[in-house]
Amino acid sequence: MKKISRRKFNESFLKGVGVASVAATIPTACAAGNGLPVGEKLGVALVGLGSYSTYQLGPALLETKHCYLAGIVTGTLEKEKIWSEKYNLPKESIYNYENFDEIIKNDTIDIVYVVLPNSMHADFCIRAARAGKHVICEKPMAMNVEECDVIIAACKKAKVKLSVGYRLHSEPYTQEVQRMVREKTFGAIRFVNAEAGYYSGSHPNQWRLDKTLSGGGALVNMGVYSIQSAIYGTGTNPISVSAQEFSTRPEYFKGTDETISAQFEFPNGVVGNIFTSHNVNTNRLYVSAEKGWFELHPANSYGPLSGRRSDGAEIKFPHESQQKLQMDDFALHILKGTINRVPGEMGKRDMIIVEAIYRSIREGGKKIPLDLGRMGIV
Ligand code: NAD
Repeated sequence: MKKISRRKFNESFLKGVGVASVAATIPTACAAGNGLPVGEKLGVALVGLGSYSTYQLGPALLETKHCYLAGIVTGTLEKEKIWSEKYNLPKESIYNYENFDEIIKNDTIDIVYVVLPNSMHADFCIRAARAGKHVICEKPMAMNVEECDVIIAACKKAKVKLSVGYRLHSEPYTQEVQRMVREKTFGAIRFVNAEAGYYSGSHPNQWRLDKTLSGGGALVNMGVYSIQSAIYGTGTNPISVSAQEFSTRPEYFKGTDETISAQFEFPNGVVGNIFTSHNVNTNRLYVSAEKGWFELHPANSYGPLSGRRSDGAEIKFPHESQQKLQMDDFALHILKGTINRVPGEMGKRDMIIVEAIYRSIREGGKKIPLDLGRMGIV
């Protein structure tokens, strides 16, 4: 098994450099990206085995080339049995939320992927970093900007890598949009429209509708996709935002936002709209440039996505699991020092925008200036 070959490698690596603590040293050895055997895979532990882990991340980890499922963290005994059988997991790599910190002793786990309700992201990301594990944190990164800062600081202090689960940055249609923006295929961008939403109707007790667990409604769940695509659709960060909230089913959405529309100003006269909702099915990115337009529709779902451009040229890529591409990209970043496509700072940048949108709504749609240039993240 890959796990055994990796342990053997680590033992000989550590012997060679005379380091005593296996647990404390593995992430550093990985991060250096030096001398890892060809075909070496990093072990991923999924924290939280809800629908995203069960139907997307777990299956994707059977296809990944540079990482594999090495452990799970769950509060449900039945899931332990199902997952350990399906993914051939050893007993010692199964944790619950209470004994999670024991993961520090497990040298088969390199990356901890936090897939819990949003209010639990910061706690488990920080504990993972303290255990010397690289971290992927699901979107939205945290409940607020302060929590994002604490996660980023914890990972820096522990010298581990941090990414946020924005899978579309590893997806070819999205990368094609990024390329057309970067290379000005249709000249300078003038306008972007980004929509992400779905109809939520049958589960009024879900954590997403409980603000203490979610931190917000449609905006933090789906709106972060609109924010993301408005930014990669223009290639710049917004310099101001004005926003409005609409509530058509207050009896269902008691404590979280249902529908939000926001208008962005970008540098050089570029403007954009974003729309997000838990009441409307929509999934689209449209970019208008000086000499033409391009769009993705769908733009945010698990794929295959679909694209068109005003000159009729085809946008077509074979479909692969986005989660597979995303986790392999992060593993390669750790192993080989390739770019971290979604650093923690990007999750924080989006949370700054989310907070500005909520503030604009509170202040009657007032234009809120944004100062994101210094962050160096687009
Ligand atoms: P889910 O409700 O299906 O699963 C949540 C998991 O957390 C469950 O296993 C549940 O048992 C566990 N949990 C632990 N404590 C809990 C508590 N106090 N209340 C509720 N659940 C608790 O949710 P999900 O759809 O898997 O979402 C999990 C995270 O993944 C969220 O942050 C979400 O935004 C993110 N997500 C990302 C994508 C993506 O495309 N990147 C897609 C779906 C979800």
